[in-house]
Order: sequence, then structure tokens, then C-alpha cells
Amino acid sequence: MPHSSPNSIDDRLSVLQKRWSRYAEEGRFEQFIEFAIAVNSLAEYFNRLRLPGLVRLCEGLENAALERLGQEDTHPVPRQDIAMLQRQVDALAGAVATSRNAASARRIPEAATAPADIDWIKPRSVWMIAAPEKQGMAHALTEQLQFFGFKVDKHGWEEGQGAAEAEKPLAVLFIPAGDMATAGESARIAAVRAACPASQLIYLGVESQIEPIVALMRAGIDITIAAEDQPAMVLNCILDLVQTSEQEQYRVLIVEDSRVAVALIRRTLSQHGIHTHAIHDPGRLLDALEFYKPDLVLMDMYMPRFNGVEATRVLRQMAAYNSLPVVYLSGESAVGMQVEALRLGGDQFLMKPFNPVLLAAVVKTRIERFREVRRSTRLDGLTGLLNHTAAKSRLKAMVDEASADNGLTVAMIDIDHFKSINDTFGHPVGDQVIRGLAWLLKGRLRSVDLIGRYGGEEFLVALPGVTRDKALSVIDRIRRDFSGLPHAHPGGALHATFSAGIASLPEVDTAAGLTEVADGALLQAKRLGRNRVETGA
Ligand code: GH3
Ligand code: MG
Ligand code: MG
Ligand code: MG
Repeated sequence: MPHSSPNSIDDRLSVLQKRWSRYAEEGRFEQFIEFAIAVNSLAEYFNRLRLPGLVRLCEGLENAALERLGQEDTHPVPRQDIAMLQRQVDALAGAVATSRNAASARRIPEAATAPADIDWIKPRSVWMIAAPEKQGMAHALTEQLQFFGFKVDKHGWEEGQGAAEAEKPLAVLFIPAGDMATAGESARIAAVRAACPASQLIYLGVESQIEPIVALMRAGIDITIAAEDQPAMVLNCILDLVQTSEQEQYRVLIVEDSRVAVALIRRTLSQHGIHTHAIHDPGRLLDALEFYKPDLVLMDMYMPRFNGVEATRVLRQMAAYNSLPVVYLSGESAVGMQVEALRLGGDQFLMKPFNPVLLAAVVKTRIERFREVRRSTRLDGLTGLLNHTAAKSRLKAMVDEASADNGLTVAMIDIDHFKSINDTFGHPVGDQVIRGLAWLLKGRLRSVDLIGRYGGEEFLVALPGVTRDKALSVIDRIRRDFSGLPHAHPGGALHATFSAGIASLPEVDTAAGLTEVADGALLQAKRLGRNRVETGA
């Protein structure tokens, strides 16, 4: 999904403010719903832009609105509720204004289409607030962050805020002396929270116990990281914030015989940026699933020929749609029938006439969960890259798509002497080195490129539209930079290297052939002394 221009934050915010002031003046129920939808859609948008602080503010406002949603006759809401919501709307607008600089500095250009543009991601800023006892760790983390293109500013625990600075950081790292926050530290966290509502606040070295973590969250911390898994987790959290998630638009298939109901549902879902396709005859369900590939089915209960439950039962018999979420919409409120419908394969039951806010929330959360599950079967847990199976099938598809003149180059990458890294520094540090390479590849390659974790410390990369020579220079540049990447460990920093082998279309013309030839070239690189890139056949 393309990123919108920064103006569209303003557009969305001003829609929200307009809807709010219309409601504040006239106090009608529909106006309140429109307002709640605008808040939700702004939250979604901030979520896509990876601005967790602003998401949190929006969600707070949304919850406050939902608590007062009521119905026709509870509107307008009492005067003090209007004043309270007004304050929250104003606070949100204020936070958007102060974080605008950070947001625009942070935006990543769309994935480069020309291989020549494969290069560093833009610098972004991180504040480091470390206790004097933890300067060693702060220093190692700073180096690592800088290597990935972050600008790190040191601030003290004592210091007054840093609120005056125009540019708010992407993230603030708190590294306390002990593993419990003192009252002074909590106050400092709260002050930073207030000054930087949109930044991600990360606290290192907490004990894995509920009470201290809840206390930190109340003070404004977003993420706490336990003492044992420090440096790697920090890098992960921060890099996660800047990865452009190429989130595909949500797709909902509506199975509903009433054209009026379809129009209402489509209007609601499209206001939430959800793509829809409707069929009026459940007999066409399987065709529609096949060609539209929805993330969720909204199923009417009563339709001609088959009812919704029957259609869902058919769908549940097919392996491909086994876990596809199905939400029923029905005018029928009989509890027994609802239970029966859920038992026969539905996921949720909503009443008609539907509450648009609830419908959208149900649809979105169901889809998010569904996508999460689907993702976890394709991605490697340590690195977030495609796993072996998914990488192989993606490569096959890429080879099928590649035409004779645009080419495709495959690289197999294997970390050198990795066993001795594990033996010397321990398995967790080894894991961190693997992650470091994964993140470097992600940061350097385009979104169209395939990056997979092929084995333990072995990666498969495929670059469509890239010739062998160009790929050689890109991979070799990454090789050089990887060898300079410091991997923080409790006693300091270590360096690792990798070897790579390359193979290209059209010299080799199948996916299996490409990996085999690249593997051969990788062996050759190892034989020739490691820390080098060789081309095959
Ligand atoms: P070479 O330069 O020839 O590649 O030497 P090497 O030591 O890297 O040899 P090899 O590739 O055969 O060793 C891979 C080692 O990686 C073996 C295994 O213990 C370790 N390993 C595999 N998966 C993981 C993992 O997920 N985490 C960690 N820490 N180690 C792993
Ligand atoms: Mg019907
Ligand atoms: Mg190896
Ligand atoms: Mg290996």
C-alpha cells in the first residue's frame, strides 16, 4: 500500500475535528458514530505509519467515545462528557503537531526500484537515557544503532526533559542502574512520555514480574525488555518501528441477498479502508472465494437456496478455507440458533441492524488475527524472514514470473565459522549475529527482493531484474558492511563475516538449479578463504 503524503495526517485529523465539532453543536447519534469512525480510522493510519504513541492516544479517545456510544436517546451525551472528549481531541491534535517533525524525518522512501538505489536506510533519532553504571552497554548499543543508520542522542536521568527540542525521537531507551525503577526514574519517564507522546519508550533490564512492569507501563513505558535478552531485543524493537510494513488492504467477501444491506455494509467497511466484494447468491460462494481470496466472509443468515450456516459448512470442508474467519450477520436474535451457527463453523455472530463501529472492529480484529496466524506459518521466528519452505516456493514463483530480458539473480549466504561464535560467546549471541545479518539484508534490499532464512545461519536471497554483475556488487557491498557490523555481547562487541555464492537466469533456468549452482559457488567461496562472494556457472 503506498504511503500517503504527510498532509493526509492533517486531512484525517481535520475530518475528525470537523465531525467532532458538528456533534458538539448538534448532538446527534449518527454524528457521534461518524466521529468514532474517524477516530478509529486515524488510529489505523498511525498504525500503518508505525507511530505507536499516536495510536495509543487515538485508541484512548476511541475507547472513551465507545463507552458513551449508547443509542439514539442517550445523545447528546452530558456536558461534562463533551468537555472531556473535547480535551482528548485537543490533546491528540497537539500530539500530532509536536510529532510531525519526527514523522517526516522518519519516512522511508518507497522501495527503490533500481538496484542502484539499494542503499542505507535514512538516519533516525533515538534518545539513550542510561545510568552511569551502564555506560558500557549504552556505548555498545549506540554503536550498533549507528551502524544501522540511527542517530543516537545521550540524555541523563536527571536532565529536565529535552522537551524543547523540535525533533522528537523515534524511540527513547531507558537503561536504569538496577532492575526496579526508583521514584525519580518514574518521574523522568513520565516527563519524557508527556514531552514525546508519539515516541516508543523502551525500558531495559526489568524483572519478568507483573508488578514492576505494570508500574512502568503506567509511567508511560511501551515496551520492557528483560535483563537476559537485552541488546538483540532492543535492536529488534527499534528496527521493527521503521520497517515499512507493506500491509495489503483487508478484503471482505459479503454474502448477502439484500442489496440494501450490502450497500450499508460496504459503506461502513470502505470508510475503514477495507476492500469488499459482494455476492447475492450463496451458490457462487466457492467461485468467489477462489478468485477474490478474501481475509474474511461476512455471511447473511437467510438467503434463497442455502442459508448462511449451510454455506459455511460447505466452506469448512475444504482445507483451503478451514480457518478463514466467517462472521454472521442476522436479524434473528434467538440464542439457540446463534450457538448452533457458531458450532457449525462460524466465528462470530452480529445482529442486524448492525452497529457500524462494532462491525468494523470485529472485522478488523478477526482479520488481524487471521493474518497473524497465516504469517507465523510462513515466517521464521528468530528473524521474521521467510522460512525455508516459504522461501523455496516464493523463489519458484519468481522464476516463473521472470522473463528472459529482465533476469533474476539468486545468492546463497552462509556465515563464516559460525560454530566458533556459538562456542565462544554462547548460543544467544550467535542468534543475535543471525538477526543482525537478517536486519542488514532487510535494510539493504528492496521490498521486491526475496530474503529467506534457508537454514541455521544460511540465507537465500533473490533479486528480480538484477544482472549477475550488479548482484555481485550489491552482495559484496553487504558483505563488506556486515564484516564491520559490531555485534554487542555482555563483554563488548564481536565481528563476523559471511561467504556467498551467486547464480543467475538465464544461465541457469530453474529454481532448483539456481540454488544448487549458488550453493556450489558458496562452497567455492569457503574454499578460497571465506568472507568473499563467488559466482557460479
Ligand atoms: P563455515 O565457515 O564453513 O560455514 O563454518 P561454520 O562453523 O559456520 O559451519 P556450519 O555452517 O556447518 O555451522 C553452522 C552452525 O550453526 C551449526 C549450528 O550449531 C549453528 N546453528 C544453526 N542454527 C542456529 C541458530 O539458530 N542459532 C545459533 N546460535 N546457532 C545455530
Ligand atoms: Mg437475507
Ligand atoms: Mg557457516
Ligand atoms: Mg551453514
